[in-house]
Amino acid sequence: MNDNNIKRCAVVTGGSRGIGRAICIELAKQGNDICVVYAGNDQAASETVSLCLEANKDITALSIKCDVSDEAAVKSMFETVISEFGRVDILVNNAGVTCDDLLARMSCDEFDKVININLRGTFICCQAVTRIMMKQRYGRIVNISSIVGVHGNAGQVNYSASKAGVIGLTKSIAKELASRNVTANAVAPGFIATDMTDAMTDAAKEATLAQIPLKRVGLPEDVAKAVAFLSGEDSSYITGQVLMVDGGMGC
Ligand code: NAP
Repeated sequence: MNDNNIKRCAVVTGGSRGIGRAICIELAKQGNDICVVYAGNDQAASETVSLCLEANKDITALSIKCDVSDEAAVKSMFETVISEFGRVDILVNNAGVTCDDLLARMSCDEFDKVININLRGTFICCQAVTRIMMKQRYGRIVNISSIVGVHGNAGQVNYSASKAGVIGLTKSIAKELASRNVTANAVAPGFIATDMTDAMTDAAKEATLAQIPLKRVGLPEDVAKAVAFLSGEDSSYITGQVLMVDGGMGC
């Protein structure tokens, strides 16, 4: 419960694992009800729900399977959230995938897959909560971008383009919704230890680590703390920003 005696409700896409799971737990600790949105990993999603309830017994948490790139599925997911919680105060667009290849070899299917989930999915979810948040005269949208959306990365033209697109989308939404007390910000993680980065070769991990001034790999919790700040009442005068959580990698 916050100062206004309102129980806030947070929807976190890609909440079943990695960074999304840490965000769910952190937002639960802060007293928000949690909706964990995930693609297919039922077990991981129910584990996240249990971890949220362990973190704070005074909240409600549930999971909903929903492909964020499917407009009809997203619409139905938010209908369920509204029928369960009556409101959506926080939307964290965290669901994301990679499908790496060099430009010369990348197929249009590989390009489209990543753009569809990372960028189009973020657009669909933002659009679906717009009316709800405008009516509430309150909302916090936090979109997960990436350091490579700012600086680019060889072998990731699709992923980098999707994450750069997320930044442009976020800044435009911030301008459109500010008058209704809805903020929109992006968080751009660097190299964070999750299933996504576990797929890298040891040599690639070592090379990336060498570029991090703080000399350690980031943890999902490092990102979750930044997201929680931008999702809370204390960030009410911050909108349209990109917060790098990268151990100094991009500075
Ligand atoms: P992860 O461990 O691979 O987890 C991905 C999450 O996204 C899972 O919860 C997965 O659900 C969900 N997901 C995938 N496709 C989806 C879809 N179509 N609809 C709904 N949910 C979907 O990834 P992560 O490393 O935690 O990354 C989280 C976010 O941070 C991503 O946007 C990623 O691009 C960004 N990021 C990560 C890093 C990093 O170093 N890890 C750096 C910069 C940015 P299931 O469990 O059901 O499969």
